[in-house]
Amino acid sequence: MQCPFCRQGDSRVLSSREGAGYIRRRRACPCCGQRFTTHESLVRPSLLVVKKDGRREPFDRQKLQRSIQVACAKRPVAAEAIEAAVSAVEAAAYGRGEAEVASRWLGELVLVELGRLDAVAYIRFASVYHEFPDLAALQQAIGQLSGESPGGNVAALAG
Ligand SMILES: [Zn+2]
Repeated sequence: MQCPFCRQGDSRVLSSREGAGYIRRRRACPCCGQRFTTHESLVRPSLLVVKKDGRREPFDRQKLQRSIQVACAKRPVAAEAIEAAVSAVEAAAYGRGEAEVASRWLGELVLVELGRLDAVAYIRFASVYHEFPDLAALQQAIGQLSGESPGGNVAALAG
C-alpha cells in the first residue's frame, strides 16, 4: 500500500494481527519512515433482516452487539465472549447464503448463545424477545435452560 504521508513508498508490513473477520497491519514507509495501520475486513454481501411486521432492514452487526451487551449488562460476561457470540450469530446468518433472514430466527440464535454465556442475560433477552404470555411460560423457559446446562448459573436469578 502506498504511504499516505509522502505518497512515494510502497509500505512494508511490520506486523499483522488477525481478529474475527478482519486483519490489522502495522506498516512502515521505506521512503519517509512514517508508520501507520491498515484495517482489512471482509466485504459482506448484503443481508436483509425481515422484521415481524414485514419491514426489512440491513443486517447490522453493531445493533446485534448492542442488544447482546444490554442483555449482559452488569453480568460476569467478558467482552471477548460477547464479541464471539456476535460473530457466531453473524456467521450463521451469512452462512445460510440467503439474501434475507427473519428477525425471529436471529433472535433464536442469540438465545442459544446467551444460554451458554449467562442465565440472567438469557432471561433478559428472552423476556423482551418472546413476550412471555405469563409467568408459567417464563418459568418453563428457565427450566429448559437449566436442563440444557446442568450446574448452570440459574441460581443467580435469585440473587
Ligand atoms: Zn512515506
